[in-house]
Amino acid sequence: MNPNSANAARVLVTGGAGYIGAHCAVALLDAGYDVTLVDDLSRGHLSLVDGVRSITGVDVDFRRIDIRDVSGLTACLVETRPACVLHLAGLKVIAESQRDPVLYFDVNVGGTVALLSAMTAAGVSRLVFSSSASVYSAQAPLPVAEDALVAAQHPYAATKLAVEQMLSDIATADERWCFASLRYFNPLGAHPSAFIGEVPPADATNLMPSLLATVLGRRDHLTIYGRGCATPDGSPMRDFIHVMDLAEGHVSAVNYVVSSAGGTHQVFNLGTGRGTTVLALVAAMARVHGAPVPVVIEAPRPGDLPVSCACVHRATNVLRWRAARDVTTMCADALRWERRRLMVPAP
Ligand code: NAD
Repeated sequence: MNPNSANAARVLVTGGAGYIGAHCAVALLDAGYDVTLVDDLSRGHLSLVDGVRSITGVDVDFRRIDIRDVSGLTACLVETRPACVLHLAGLKVIAESQRDPVLYFDVNVGGTVALLSAMTAAGVSRLVFSSSASVYSAQAPLPVAEDALVAAQHPYAATKLAVEQMLSDIATADERWCFASLRYFNPLGAHPSAFIGEVPPADATNLMPSLLATVLGRRDHLTIYGRGCATPDGSPMRDFIHVMDLAEGHVSAVNYVVSSAGGTHQVFNLGTGRGTTVLALVAAMARVHGAPVPVVIEAPRPGDLPVSCACVHRATNVLRWRAARDVTTMCADALRWERRRLMVPAP
């Protein structure tokens, strides 16, 4: 029970033991919602649920359920009666989606169909969905607006587009439903308490885990993929967004779907609207850490864009939300979390 608000409305968060789900849980509890976290723990961690409890002082309700289990989910929804579902459960590794596309369609698309079936049975009709900026075509003009051309380059993005299309078709056919899809740009960082953050696999190749491993001496250099880009320092440019800003954007999206008339599916970019080069991010981390970070620059991998940046007008105007934290804060919070997670003492 959330002590911030008596009789608070409840939000059920799928993927609630994951990186973004745990931060959303904190932001929802801070905003006065109650939460139920659902996760099958295939990629999530109970330690993150405990971290949410430590930060908020709330004995958060956690259920271990696979979202493809319609009867398990239905029972949970009937019991907890959420005003809204925040649907983050899914698989997110692009290379894995290319190796095992059927698994990705099963979990990301089949899992969403199962969730919608359970919501139908339980009479819950508001849902916010985790989508991704990877759905945009490489030809989309910058900054990328929500109505820009989409084109999935890999099965992971195809699963996100398939779900978005499904939500649009359902909202058009049945006006009881109200959906929002949030296309995240590049979430980084951790809660400033260092009780929750990203728990990457040991062989992770994505930027922040690789940067932290380099800073903490577990790798001898950071490889940056992309040289000669049309950016001030030639390295790729991204729209990095602090995970707590992203989480607060979810609270705004929940407020939006809970108060909207049915029959709608609206898509929102969640980014800062500002591009930062990868070398500028590395420089920010070096300042926070107090030592240079060795880098090796290599050719881009297939599908890597030189520049990506969100147009955030729709989120600003409709959700009344805007990202506030800068890249230095993202680096400082990520490093504080990683030191605590790996029990590396501060210098
Ligand atoms: P994560 O892997 O940390 O969290 C996803 C959670 O979903 C995990 O806890 C996992 O155990 C759970 N899950 C997976 N399959 C499940 C199933 N069948 N039933 C129940 N739970 C299941 O990833 P994250 O970074 O927190 O991402 C959350 C969502 O945001 C994902 O849908 C992802 O595609 C999307 N997204 C993430 C990023 C990013 O950079 N992190 C960017 C764009 C979109």
